[in-house]
Amino acid sequence: MKLKSLIKKIESKYPTSLAYDWDNVGLIVGDTEEEINKVLVCLEANEDIIKEAIDKNIDLIITHHPFIFGKMRKITTSDFKGKLIHKLIKNNIAIYSMHTNFDIAFDGLNDYFMEVMGFENSKVLDVTNTETLYKVVVFVPKTHEMVLREALGRSGAGHIGNYSDCTFNIDGKGTFKPLEGTNPFIGELNKVEEVDEVRIETIVPQRILGGVISAMIKAHPYEEVAYDLYKLENKGSVVGLGRVAALNESMTLKELSMMIKEKLSMQTLRVVGNLDKKIKKVAVVTGSGSDLAKKAQRTGADVLITGDVKYHDAQDAVDAGMCLIDCNHFESEDIFKDVMKRFLDEVEEIEVIKSEININPFSIL
Ligand SMILES: [Zn+2]
Repeated sequence: MKLKSLIKKIESKYPTSLAYDWDNVGLIVGDTEEEINKVLVCLEANEDIIKEAIDKNIDLIITHHPFIFGKMRKITTSDFKGKLIHKLIKNNIAIYSMHTNFDIAFDGLNDYFMEVMGFENSKVLDVTNTETLYKVVVFVPKTHEMVLREALGRSGAGHIGNYSDCTFNIDGKGTFKPLEGTNPFIGELNKVEEVDEVRIETIVPQRILGGVISAMIKAHPYEEVAYDLYKLENKGSVVGLGRVAALNESMTLKELSMMIKEKLSMQTLRVVGNLDKKIKKVAVVTGSGSDLAKKAQRTGADVLITGDVKYHDAQDAVDAGMCLIDCNHFESEDIFKDVMKRFLDEVEEIEVIKSEININPFSIL
């Protein structure tokens, strides 16, 4: 499939608009018209990963950490990053990065961490946004109301809580006069037509609005589709960084730490707090998240599980009576490969490979 089609599929679930302003996500290197057959997924792309991609005939590398983060004023081979970019372009390999948008998104990295650990019914820890909702109203001839309702439902319109395909329908009379140059589905040129129509109303979150409108127009029999969009005051789902969940059964800080250590196959793990403390509620921020320790405590969490905990963050946590589990930046995020492969395996035309290169910069002695 073409790179632009793959990106469209990825961004319909993980929109780049969810990322923080300081981040750099989306297509970093590449030509959207290129055909993509083989994809390599990894936490980040360094020289070894790019060599692996060349050896394995990869068309696209998908990373969690942005391939280009700071400002670049020149792309020359005298610079390390510039050299890698030249190598990628010469070998026709694109790079796409999904960073804070993937941390924040539903079914992204934080949700996957919760899933791996078996933490259920999680909520957002730090809300960054609330989805804008739209009311879509479309007028369709009675003969096509079912087809249109099905198309709206399939494209994701009409979700309210755990209900899908929600619509409201009113029968009415539509009138129109086809003018010169038209090719009407019903009616004759220059004659006012009356048709039994249905007004179908449904609700759509902004992130899928474009897809819903395209599906609606495609399924509608009329040459010119009459529809209205209303921006709603109702607030949609909240999105944000980190997750919080109550445990089904409480466990001690030590038991919880040992479970995480085993599930992430870690050699060592650092823990702050009384190891015998009963943990009833956990907060998780993959990568570096110790700055959210106070927020996690305010939500009632007994422990924050994250990476990159600094000495003074640990001391502050001790003073506040909060526990921390530092499961390392690398280990908390290397599971990116697993969740991305699972998501992309549903795209039939591409082969997805998890990188086999160990890019953890730390060695444990
Ligand atoms: Zn990270």
